[in-house]
Amino acid sequence: MSVKVTGVDKHSPAARARIKAGDTLISINGHAIADVLDYMFYAAEDRTEVVCERDGKERKSVIYKSEYDDLGMQFDSFLMDQKRSCSNKCIFCFIDQMPPGMRETLYFKDDDARLSFLQGNYVTLTNLTDKDIQRIIDMRLNINVSVHTTNPELRCKMMHNRFAGDKLRYIKMMAESGLMLNCQIVCCPGINDGDELRRTLTDLYSLMPNIQSVAVVPVGITKFRQGLYPLEIFNAETAAQTIDVIAETQQKSLEKFGTRMVFAADEFYLTAGRPLPEGDFYEDYPQYENGVGLCRSLIDEVDSALKVAEYDGGKRKVTLACGTAAAVVHKMLAEKISQNFPDVELNVVPILNRFFGETITVSGLITAQDLVAQLKDLDLGDELLISKAMLKADEPIFLDDAHLDDVRRELGVKITPTANDGFEYLDNVLGIHY
Ligand code: SF4
Repeated sequence: MSVKVTGVDKHSPAARARIKAGDTLISINGHAIADVLDYMFYAAEDRTEVVCERDGKERKSVIYKSEYDDLGMQFDSFLMDQKRSCSNKCIFCFIDQMPPGMRETLYFKDDDARLSFLQGNYVTLTNLTDKDIQRIIDMRLNINVSVHTTNPELRCKMMHNRFAGDKLRYIKMMAESGLMLNCQIVCCPGINDGDELRRTLTDLYSLMPNIQSVAVVPVGITKFRQGLYPLEIFNAETAAQTIDVIAETQQKSLEKFGTRMVFAADEFYLTAGRPLPEGDFYEDYPQYENGVGLCRSLIDEVDSALKVAEYDGGKRKVTLACGTAAAVVHKMLAEKISQNFPDVELNVVPILNRFFGETITVSGLITAQDLVAQLKDLDLGDELLISKAMLKADEPIFLDDAHLDDVRRELGVKITPTANDGFEYLDNVLGIHY
Protein backbone atom coordinates (compact mmCIF):
# COMPACT_ATOMS: atom_id res chain seq x y z
CA MET A 1 0.00 0.00 0.00
CA SER A 2 1.14 3.57 -0.64
CA VAL A 3 -0.54 6.93 -0.25
CA LYS A 4 -0.19 10.09 -2.32
CA VAL A 5 0.99 13.17 -0.38
CA THR A 6 -1.25 16.09 -1.41
CA GLY A 7 0.44 18.79 0.63
CA VAL A 8 3.08 19.49 3.24
CA ASP A 9 2.65 21.94 6.12
CA LYS A 10 5.08 24.87 6.07
CA HIS A 11 8.02 24.50 8.50
CA SER A 12 6.86 20.98 9.43
CA PRO A 13 9.30 18.07 9.92
CA ALA A 14 8.21 16.74 6.49
CA ALA A 15 8.88 20.13 4.84
CA ARG A 16 12.34 20.23 6.43
CA ALA A 17 12.98 16.77 4.94
CA ARG A 18 12.03 18.19 1.50
CA ILE A 19 9.00 15.92 1.13
CA LYS A 20 6.67 17.49 -1.42
CA ALA A 21 3.08 17.34 -2.61
CA GLY A 22 2.91 14.66 -5.32
CA ASP A 23 5.33 12.31 -3.53
CA THR A 24 4.01 8.86 -2.69
CA LEU A 25 4.45 7.81 0.92
CA ILE A 26 5.70 4.23 0.94
CA SER A 27 6.75 3.48 4.51
CA ILE A 28 7.56 4.93 7.90
CA ASN A 29 10.16 3.18 10.05
CA GLY A 30 9.95 0.18 7.73
CA HIS A 31 6.18 -0.19 7.98
CA ALA A 32 3.94 0.14 4.92
CA ILE A 33 1.36 2.87 5.41
CA ALA A 34 -2.19 1.95 4.52
CA ASP A 35 -4.19 4.53 6.43
CA VAL A 36 -4.21 7.30 8.99
CA LEU A 37 -3.75 4.89 11.90
CA ASP A 38 -0.53 3.50 10.44
CA TYR A 39 0.60 7.06 9.76
CA MET A 40 -0.13 8.28 13.28
CA PHE A 41 1.20 5.17 14.99
CA TYR A 42 4.46 4.66 13.12
CA ALA A 43 5.26 8.37 12.89
CA ALA A 44 4.93 8.88 16.65
CA GLU A 45 8.61 8.17 17.35
CA ASP A 46 11.18 10.95 17.62
CA ARG A 47 13.45 9.37 15.00
CA THR A 48 11.40 8.63 11.94
CA GLU A 49 12.66 7.10 8.73
CA VAL A 50 10.33 8.04 5.90
CA VAL A 51 10.46 6.46 2.43
CA CYS A 52 8.68 8.32 -0.37
CA GLU A 53 8.64 7.77 -4.11
CA ARG A 54 9.14 10.64 -6.56
CA ASP A 55 9.46 10.27 -10.35
CA GLY A 56 9.76 6.49 -10.00
CA LYS A 57 12.65 6.70 -7.51
CA GLU A 58 12.51 5.88 -3.81
CA ARG A 59 13.87 8.55 -1.49
CA LYS A 60 14.64 7.96 2.18
CA SER A 61 14.61 10.76 4.78
CA VAL A 62 15.52 10.48 8.44
CA ILE A 63 13.51 13.00 10.43
CA TYR A 64 14.17 13.99 14.04
CA LYS A 65 11.27 15.59 15.88
CA SER A 66 9.59 15.52 19.27
CA GLU A 67 7.78 12.30 20.07
CA TYR A 68 4.13 12.38 18.84
CA ASP A 69 4.70 15.57 16.77
CA ASP A 70 2.91 15.33 13.43
CA LEU A 71 5.19 14.96 10.43
CA GLY A 72 3.05 17.54 8.62
CA MET A 73 2.01 15.62 5.51
CA GLN A 74 -1.45 16.06 4.05
CA PHE A 75 -3.43 13.46 2.16
CA ASP A 76 -6.50 13.32 -0.02
CA SER A 77 -8.81 12.27 2.79
CA PHE A 78 -8.72 12.26 6.55
CA LEU A 79 -8.58 8.44 6.71
CA MET A 80 -6.07 8.21 3.81
CA ASP A 81 -8.32 5.41 2.65
CA GLN A 82 -11.98 4.67 1.80
CA LYS A 83 -14.40 4.83 4.71
CA ARG A 84 -15.62 1.32 5.59
CA SER A 85 -19.34 0.69 5.51
CA CYS A 86 -21.22 -1.90 7.53
CA SER A 87 -21.99 -5.38 6.37
CA ASN A 88 -25.18 -5.69 8.42
CA LYS A 89 -28.85 -5.11 7.91
CA CYS A 90 -29.92 -4.46 11.48
CA ILE A 91 -33.62 -4.78 12.16
CA PHE A 92 -33.54 -1.44 14.00
CA CYS A 93 -31.32 0.49 11.56
CA PHE A 94 -32.41 4.11 11.50
CA ILE A 95 -30.97 4.68 8.04
CA ASP A 96 -33.30 2.03 6.58
CA GLN A 97 -36.21 3.96 8.06
CA MET A 98 -35.41 7.31 6.49
CA PRO A 99 -37.48 8.70 3.65
CA PRO A 100 -35.88 8.81 0.20
CA GLY A 101 -34.55 12.07 -1.17
CA MET A 102 -32.52 13.27 1.80
CA ARG A 103 -28.88 14.30 1.40
CA GLU A 104 -26.74 11.40 0.24
CA THR A 105 -24.30 11.43 3.16
CA LEU A 106 -27.16 10.65 5.59
CA TYR A 107 -27.59 7.24 3.97
CA PHE A 108 -23.97 6.16 4.40
CA LYS A 109 -23.77 3.25 6.86
CA ASP A 110 -20.31 3.69 8.32
CA ASP A 111 -18.79 0.96 10.44
CA ASP A 112 -15.14 1.91 10.55
CA ALA A 113 -12.94 1.01 13.52
CA ARG A 114 -10.56 3.83 12.62
CA LEU A 115 -13.35 6.39 12.99
CA SER A 116 -14.26 4.74 16.25
CA PHE A 117 -10.82 5.50 17.66
CA LEU A 118 -10.48 8.93 16.05
CA GLN A 119 -14.02 10.29 16.32
CA GLY A 120 -15.84 8.07 18.79
CA ASN A 121 -18.11 6.32 16.25
CA TYR A 122 -19.55 2.97 17.30
CA VAL A 123 -18.59 -0.16 15.36
CA THR A 124 -20.19 -3.60 15.22
CA LEU A 125 -16.92 -5.53 14.58
CA THR A 126 -18.69 -7.60 11.90
CA ASN A 127 -16.51 -6.30 9.06
CA LEU A 128 -13.25 -6.91 10.95
CA THR A 129 -10.91 -9.87 10.75
CA ASP A 130 -8.69 -11.43 13.42
CA LYS A 131 -5.81 -9.47 11.86
CA ASP A 132 -7.73 -6.18 12.20
CA ILE A 133 -8.39 -6.91 15.86
CA GLN A 134 -4.75 -7.77 16.48
CA ARG A 135 -3.80 -4.43 14.93
CA ILE A 136 -6.26 -2.63 17.26
CA ILE A 137 -4.74 -4.47 20.21
CA ASP A 138 -1.15 -3.83 19.10
CA MET A 139 -1.85 -0.13 18.59
CA ARG A 140 -3.68 0.04 21.95
CA LEU A 141 -6.76 1.65 20.38
CA ASN A 142 -9.70 2.01 22.74
CA ILE A 143 -12.78 1.76 20.55
CA ASN A 144 -16.55 1.99 20.91
CA VAL A 145 -18.53 -1.15 20.22
CA SER A 146 -22.17 -1.61 19.26
CA VAL A 147 -22.88 -4.79 21.18
CA HIS A 148 -26.72 -4.90 21.20
CA THR A 149 -26.68 -8.39 22.72
CA THR A 150 -24.14 -11.00 23.80
CA ASN A 151 -26.45 -13.83 22.78
CA PRO A 152 -24.75 -14.97 19.54
CA GLU A 153 -27.91 -16.24 17.81
CA LEU A 154 -29.86 -13.16 18.76
CA ARG A 155 -27.04 -10.89 17.57
CA CYS A 156 -27.07 -12.64 14.16
CA LYS A 157 -30.82 -12.16 13.98
CA MET A 158 -30.81 -8.53 15.11
CA MET A 159 -28.02 -7.59 12.74
CA HIS A 160 -29.09 -9.87 9.94
CA ASN A 161 -25.51 -11.06 9.67
CA ARG A 162 -24.55 -14.68 10.24
CA PHE A 163 -21.09 -13.70 11.49
CA ALA A 164 -22.35 -11.22 14.10
CA GLY A 165 -22.46 -13.82 16.90
CA ASP A 166 -18.96 -15.12 16.28
CA LYS A 167 -17.52 -11.57 16.25
CA LEU A 168 -18.51 -11.18 19.90
CA ARG A 169 -15.23 -12.93 20.74
CA TYR A 170 -13.41 -9.78 19.63
CA ILE A 171 -14.94 -7.89 22.54
CA LYS A 172 -13.44 -10.41 24.94
CA MET A 173 -10.07 -10.39 23.14
CA MET A 174 -9.85 -6.60 23.30
CA ALA A 175 -10.97 -6.36 26.93
CA GLU A 176 -8.62 -9.15 28.02
CA SER A 177 -5.73 -7.42 26.27
CA GLY A 178 -6.31 -4.45 28.58
CA LEU A 179 -8.13 -2.12 26.17
CA MET A 180 -10.92 -0.02 27.64
CA LEU A 181 -14.17 -0.32 25.69
CA ASN A 182 -17.24 1.85 25.54
CA CYS A 183 -20.27 -0.13 24.46
CA GLN A 184 -23.78 0.62 23.32
CA ILE A 185 -26.92 -1.45 23.20
CA VAL A 186 -29.80 -0.36 21.00
CA CYS A 187 -32.64 -1.86 23.00
CA CYS A 188 -35.77 -3.14 21.26
CA PRO A 189 -38.74 -4.11 23.45
CA GLY A 190 -39.54 -7.81 23.29
CA ILE A 191 -36.23 -8.57 21.54
CA ASN A 192 -33.12 -7.73 23.56
CA ASP A 193 -34.63 -6.18 26.69
CA GLY A 194 -35.66 -8.05 29.88
CA ASP A 195 -33.72 -11.29 30.46
CA GLU A 196 -31.72 -10.82 27.24
CA LEU A 197 -30.53 -7.42 28.47
CA ARG A 198 -29.76 -8.97 31.87
CA ARG A 199 -27.62 -11.60 30.12
CA THR A 200 -25.81 -9.00 28.00
CA LEU A 201 -25.01 -6.80 30.98
CA THR A 202 -23.85 -9.81 33.02
CA ASP A 203 -21.51 -10.85 30.19
CA LEU A 204 -20.13 -7.33 29.83
CA TYR A 205 -19.77 -7.03 33.60
CA SER A 206 -17.59 -10.18 33.52
CA LEU A 207 -15.08 -8.12 31.47
CA MET A 208 -14.80 -5.39 34.08
CA PRO A 209 -12.78 -3.29 34.72
CA ASN A 210 -12.14 -3.16 30.96
CA ILE A 211 -15.62 -2.01 30.09
CA GLN A 212 -15.43 1.74 30.51
CA SER A 213 -19.15 2.32 30.04
CA VAL A 214 -22.26 0.93 28.39
CA ALA A 215 -25.16 3.03 27.08
CA VAL A 216 -28.55 1.45 26.66
CA VAL A 217 -30.50 3.51 24.13
CA PRO A 218 -34.08 2.89 23.01
CA VAL A 219 -34.82 1.94 19.41
CA GLY A 220 -36.21 4.77 17.29
CA ILE A 221 -39.02 3.96 14.89
CA THR A 222 -40.07 6.24 12.05
CA LYS A 223 -43.17 6.09 9.90
CA PHE A 224 -41.08 4.73 7.01
CA ARG A 225 -40.79 1.12 8.23
CA GLN A 226 -42.87 -0.51 5.52
CA GLY A 227 -41.53 -3.98 4.72
CA LEU A 228 -39.12 -4.01 7.66
CA TYR A 229 -39.04 -6.24 10.75
CA PRO A 230 -41.98 -5.37 13.03
CA LEU A 231 -40.70 -3.42 16.03
CA GLU A 232 -42.33 -1.57 18.90
CA ILE A 233 -41.20 1.45 20.83
CA PHE A 234 -40.88 1.57 24.61
CA ASN A 235 -43.87 2.60 26.68
CA ALA A 236 -43.92 3.77 30.30
CA GLU A 237 -44.02 0.22 31.63
CA THR A 238 -41.30 -1.34 29.44
CA ALA A 239 -39.08 1.71 29.88
CA ALA A 240 -39.39 1.42 33.68
CA GLN A 241 -38.63 -2.32 33.52
CA THR A 242 -35.52 -1.61 31.49
CA ILE A 243 -34.30 0.98 34.00
CA ASP A 244 -34.75 -1.65 36.72
CA VAL A 245 -32.81 -4.33 34.83
CA ILE A 246 -29.99 -1.84 34.27
CA ALA A 247 -30.03 -0.91 37.98
CA GLU A 248 -29.11 -4.50 38.95
CA THR A 249 -25.74 -4.28 37.16
CA GLN A 250 -25.21 -0.67 38.22
CA GLN A 251 -25.48 -1.63 41.87
CA LYS A 252 -23.18 -4.64 41.55
CA SER A 253 -20.59 -2.73 39.55
CA LEU A 254 -20.65 0.30 41.84
CA GLU A 255 -19.97 -1.88 44.88
CA LYS A 256 -17.09 -3.78 43.30
CA PHE A 257 -15.52 -1.32 40.86
CA GLY A 258 -16.71 2.09 42.05
CA THR A 259 -18.48 2.78 38.76
CA ARG A 260 -21.98 1.91 37.56
CA MET A 261 -20.63 0.71 34.19
CA VAL A 262 -24.01 0.92 32.45
CA PHE A 263 -26.41 3.84 31.98
CA ALA A 264 -29.88 4.22 30.50
CA ALA A 265 -30.44 6.97 27.94
CA ASP A 266 -32.50 9.94 29.15
CA GLU A 267 -35.42 8.83 26.97
CA PHE A 268 -36.02 5.84 29.27
CA TYR A 269 -36.62 8.11 32.28
CA LEU A 270 -38.73 10.55 30.28
CA THR A 271 -40.85 7.73 28.80
CA ALA A 272 -41.20 5.97 32.15
CA GLY A 273 -42.11 9.25 33.85
CA ARG A 274 -39.38 8.59 36.42
CA PRO A 275 -37.29 11.38 37.95
CA LEU A 276 -33.95 11.90 36.27
CA PRO A 277 -31.01 10.67 38.36
CA GLU A 278 -28.86 13.27 40.14
CA GLY A 279 -25.66 14.56 38.51
CA ASP A 280 -23.23 12.35 40.47
CA PHE A 281 -25.13 9.26 39.29
CA TYR A 282 -23.71 9.88 35.80
CA GLU A 283 -20.13 9.97 37.16
CA ASP A 284 -18.06 11.66 34.39
CA TYR A 285 -20.93 11.46 31.88
CA PRO A 286 -19.07 8.84 29.79
CA GLN A 287 -22.03 8.32 27.46
CA TYR A 288 -23.11 11.95 27.06
CA GLU A 289 -22.78 11.80 23.25
CA ASN A 290 -25.16 8.86 23.28
CA GLY A 291 -27.95 10.84 24.97
CA VAL A 292 -27.14 9.68 28.50
CA GLY A 293 -27.36 12.44 31.11
CA LEU A 294 -27.97 15.37 28.74
CA CYS A 295 -31.09 16.48 30.62
CA ARG A 296 -29.49 16.22 34.06
CA SER A 297 -26.39 18.04 32.93
CA LEU A 298 -28.49 20.86 31.39
CA ILE A 299 -30.61 21.23 34.54
CA ASP A 300 -27.58 21.37 36.83
CA GLU A 301 -25.77 23.85 34.60
CA VAL A 302 -28.80 26.15 34.37
CA ASP A 303 -29.01 26.02 38.19
CA SER A 304 -25.35 27.04 38.43
CA ALA A 305 -25.82 29.75 35.80
CA LEU A 306 -28.85 31.15 37.62
CA LYS A 307 -26.75 31.66 40.76
CA VAL A 308 -24.49 34.15 39.00
CA ALA A 309 -26.78 35.59 36.30
CA GLU A 310 -27.89 39.23 36.25
CA TYR A 311 -30.63 40.67 34.08
CA ASP A 312 -31.99 44.17 33.76
CA GLY A 313 -33.15 44.13 30.17
CA GLY A 314 -36.86 44.72 30.88
CA LYS A 315 -39.73 42.61 29.57
CA ARG A 316 -38.60 39.77 27.33
CA LYS A 317 -40.49 36.91 25.75
CA VAL A 318 -38.68 33.97 24.17
CA THR A 319 -39.90 30.73 22.57
CA LEU A 320 -38.00 27.47 22.76
CA ALA A 321 -38.88 24.72 20.25
CA CYS A 322 -37.84 21.19 21.16
CA GLY A 323 -38.73 17.53 20.69
CA THR A 324 -41.70 16.23 22.63
CA ALA A 325 -39.60 14.01 24.95
CA ALA A 326 -37.58 16.78 26.59
CA ALA A 327 -40.37 19.39 26.71
CA VAL A 328 -41.05 18.54 30.36
CA VAL A 329 -37.44 19.39 31.24
CA HIS A 330 -37.50 22.69 29.35
CA LYS A 331 -40.83 23.66 30.93
CA MET A 332 -39.35 23.07 34.37
CA LEU A 333 -36.33 25.22 33.44
CA ALA A 334 -38.66 27.94 32.08
CA GLU A 335 -40.41 28.06 35.44
CA LYS A 336 -37.13 28.34 37.34
CA ILE A 337 -35.93 31.11 35.06
CA SER A 338 -39.11 33.18 35.43
CA GLN A 339 -39.01 32.72 39.22
CA ASN A 340 -35.53 34.26 39.19
CA PHE A 341 -36.34 36.86 36.52
CA PRO A 342 -40.06 37.70 36.53
CA ASP A 343 -39.65 39.94 33.45
CA VAL A 344 -38.53 36.97 31.37
CA GLU A 345 -41.08 34.60 29.87
CA LEU A 346 -39.86 31.39 28.20
CA ASN A 347 -42.55 29.55 26.26
CA VAL A 348 -41.69 25.96 25.44
CA VAL A 349 -43.28 24.54 22.28
CA PRO A 350 -42.91 20.78 21.79
CA ILE A 351 -42.70 20.05 18.07
CA LEU A 352 -44.42 16.90 16.80
CA ASN A 353 -42.14 15.10 14.40
CA ARG A 354 -44.41 14.79 11.37
CA PHE A 355 -41.43 14.37 9.04
CA PHE A 356 -40.18 11.07 10.55
CA GLY A 357 -43.34 10.21 12.47
CA GLU A 358 -44.57 11.24 15.89
CA THR A 359 -42.83 8.33 17.64
CA ILE A 360 -39.58 10.22 17.06
CA THR A 361 -39.43 12.54 20.03
CA VAL A 362 -35.85 13.83 20.22
CA SER A 363 -34.98 17.44 19.37
CA GLY A 364 -32.07 16.52 17.11
CA LEU A 365 -34.35 14.97 14.47
CA ILE A 366 -36.69 17.93 14.04
CA THR A 367 -36.76 19.34 10.54
CA ALA A 368 -37.22 22.89 9.30
CA GLN A 369 -40.57 22.03 7.71
CA ASP A 370 -42.00 20.84 11.05
CA LEU A 371 -40.69 23.95 12.79
CA VAL A 372 -42.23 26.31 10.24
CA ALA A 373 -45.57 24.47 10.04
CA GLN A 374 -46.03 24.33 13.80
CA LEU A 375 -44.66 27.75 14.75
CA LYS A 376 -45.82 30.04 11.94
CA ASP A 377 -49.12 31.03 13.56
CA LEU A 378 -47.73 31.50 17.08
CA ASP A 379 -46.52 34.64 18.79
CA LEU A 380 -42.85 33.72 19.15
CA GLY A 381 -41.88 36.87 21.03
CA ASP A 382 -38.43 38.44 20.75
CA GLU A 383 -36.47 35.35 19.79
CA LEU A 384 -36.81 31.67 18.97
CA LEU A 385 -34.35 29.21 20.49
CA ILE A 386 -33.76 25.83 18.89
CA SER A 387 -31.35 23.04 19.68
CA LYS A 388 -28.03 23.17 17.83
CA ALA A 389 -28.49 19.40 17.34
CA MET A 390 -31.16 20.17 14.71
CA LEU A 391 -28.43 21.52 12.42
CA LYS A 392 -25.44 20.02 10.68
CA ALA A 393 -22.32 20.27 12.84
CA ASP A 394 -20.49 22.56 10.40
CA GLU A 395 -23.33 24.44 8.67
CA PRO A 396 -26.70 25.92 9.66
CA ILE A 397 -28.59 23.36 7.58
CA PHE A 398 -31.48 21.23 8.86
CA LEU A 399 -31.96 17.52 8.14
CA ASP A 400 -34.39 18.36 5.35
CA ASP A 401 -31.70 20.58 3.77
CA ALA A 402 -33.39 23.88 4.60
CA HIS A 403 -31.07 26.70 5.64
CA LEU A 404 -31.53 28.42 9.00
CA ASP A 405 -31.92 31.75 7.16
CA ASP A 406 -34.92 30.38 5.22
CA VAL A 407 -36.61 29.41 8.48
CA ARG A 408 -35.80 32.85 9.93
CA ARG A 409 -37.41 34.49 6.91
CA GLU A 410 -40.49 32.25 7.02
CA LEU A 411 -41.08 32.77 10.73
CA GLY A 412 -40.02 36.43 10.77
CA VAL A 413 -38.14 36.04 14.04
CA LYS A 414 -34.57 35.97 15.22
CA ILE A 415 -33.53 32.31 15.70
CA THR A 416 -30.67 31.28 17.93
CA PRO A 417 -29.39 27.68 17.92
CA THR A 418 -28.44 26.73 21.45
CA ALA A 419 -26.07 24.02 22.68
CA ASN A 420 -26.94 21.65 25.51
CA ASP A 421 -24.97 23.91 27.84
CA GLY A 422 -26.78 25.52 30.76
CA PHE A 423 -24.77 28.75 30.71
CA GLU A 424 -25.30 29.28 26.98
CA TYR A 425 -28.95 28.31 27.39
CA LEU A 426 -29.58 30.89 30.09
CA ASP A 427 -27.64 33.60 28.22
CA ASN A 428 -29.78 32.98 25.15
CA VAL A 429 -33.01 33.04 27.14
CA LEU A 430 -31.92 36.35 28.72
CA GLY A 431 -30.75 37.74 25.37
CA ILE A 432 -27.14 38.08 26.46
CA HIS A 433 -25.15 37.52 23.29
CA TYR A 434 -21.40 37.98 23.63
S1 SF4 B 1 -24.54 -1.42 11.72
FE1 SF4 B 1 -26.73 -1.78 11.64
S2 SF4 B 1 -27.62 0.07 12.52
FE2 SF4 B 1 -25.53 0.56 11.96
S3 SF4 B 1 -25.64 1.39 9.89
FE3 SF4 B 1 -25.25 -0.82 9.69
S4 SF4 B 1 -27.27 -1.71 9.48
FE4 SF4 B 1 -27.58 0.33 10.28
